[in-house]
Amino acid sequence: MNKEFFVGKTVLVMGLGRFGGGVDVVRFAHDTGAKVIVTDLASAEQLSDSINQLRSLDGIEFHLGSHDPTDFKQADVIVANPAVPGDNKFLQIARRANRFVTSQIGIFFELCPARTIGITGANGKSTTTALTAHLLKNMRSQTIWLSGNIGNQPLLTIIDQINPNDLVVLELSSFQLEQLAEIQKAPDIALLTNLTPNHLDRHGTFANYCAAKENIFRFQQLDEESPAVSIFNAEDEMGAEWYEKYHKDAGRTCVQFSADDVSAELRSVYSLPGRANLSNLAAAMTIAKYFGAEEDRIKYCLPEFKALPHRLEFVQEINGVRWYNDSIATTPQSAIAALEAFDEPVIIIAGGYDKKLPFDELGAKITKKAKAAVLIGQTAEKIAYAIKDTKIEHTESLAHAVQAANSLAESGDVALLSPACASYDMFDNFQQRGQEFVKLVRDISRLNSQ
Ligand code: ADP
Repeated sequence: MNKEFFVGKTVLVMGLGRFGGGVDVVRFAHDTGAKVIVTDLASAEQLSDSINQLRSLDGIEFHLGSHDPTDFKQADVIVANPAVPGDNKFLQIARRANRFVTSQIGIFFELCPARTIGITGANGKSTTTALTAHLLKNMRSQTIWLSGNIGNQPLLTIIDQINPNDLVVLELSSFQLEQLAEIQKAPDIALLTNLTPNHLDRHGTFANYCAAKENIFRFQQLDEESPAVSIFNAEDEMGAEWYEKYHKDAGRTCVQFSADDVSAELRSVYSLPGRANLSNLAAAMTIAKYFGAEEDRIKYCLPEFKALPHRLEFVQEINGVRWYNDSIATTPQSAIAALEAFDEPVIIIAGGYDKKLPFDELGAKITKKAKAAVLIGQTAEKIAYAIKDTKIEHTESLAHAVQAANSLAESGDVALLSPACASYDMFDNFQQRGQEFVKLVRDISRLNSQ
């Protein structure tokens, strides 16, 4: 495929998204000279922010509120949003009519001239991806791109500027990996941070979710001249299993990492709390070292790397209580990692949209480590059920939860929003939940100082 492929074709973009997930594809297809139709189940009103971003483009047609099978039979190319499962009935209609079905990530991999570094996993993807790009930018003279499920440079917006000698660091979701598997592609350098159950509402079973993630290794090009690089977490069950499965392949270099790889010297200059973040650093260092980084160089540039927003982000200290925003913790495993990051007594605010994940392990961790749990949202009852002796408070809103945590906390404690769940039951997304939390914490601080 090259860009000329799209000239004169009708491209149906399936799923624009309220937060502009499809905007990048629409712009790209429009700029290549295709006729673009956007279809989405949501209404124009619900999609207004995304539609506004497309105002300057001429000739885009919008078919909103429902999908029309005729569009799927007639378009030359259908670009499906990563949120659309591969077996979606409209995509099946398109395939039966011999239409070309692809995705943003699929187009990117077809067109990208540079080496790709792909990072996936249940937790720690964004941190590891951002950290990898940070280390590489500080040690390599070539251009380093950061994209995928992260950042503000969408894949097809940057594709024209990427040169063969650049390096592209990508965060890849399980949905994107499923879409890449359809064209049997995977990054040249692939890393799995860890694997614990997530997105079971979409993938059905843990085995299906693992299969989606495994695509990152399964479809790497095995070439003895320039071997694929596959990087696994030695401390993760699936990581260790897959290392055993893949490390004897000809044309593949397999490397393992562990949080223990991080020297005391490096720990002393690294500001991200907790063992999970050491694991993320070990992962990023493995990639940097593959590209020639030395420990001294890593030590030099590591202090500049700060936690990404909403990821164990320190908000403020109020009356000796340190408040942290970990709104991005949308799985029980992330919230467990957050609890493990602190030695202080923790008051955790948790609960949210029900992705049908088990809370037994989180409940046990809260029982063991937390001083109190303030529970909100759809999953509050399920989480409460898994907690044994720790004090529990139920509140109806995040505002009440912050007030409750504030009343429970004493000097020396940590008050932590680490919901272990997605936010969709009460918020648009985890960013909105985190921003609201930060605002509520600042309100307490303001009231206290009046
Ligand atoms: P992702 O992109 O996979 O969602 P992030 O790097 O954004 O991961 O981190 C999200 C949250 O997950 C963090 O705030 C932390 O609570 C938790 N987390 C980060 N790294 C790990 C890890 N290696 N293992 C388990 N949990 C982690």
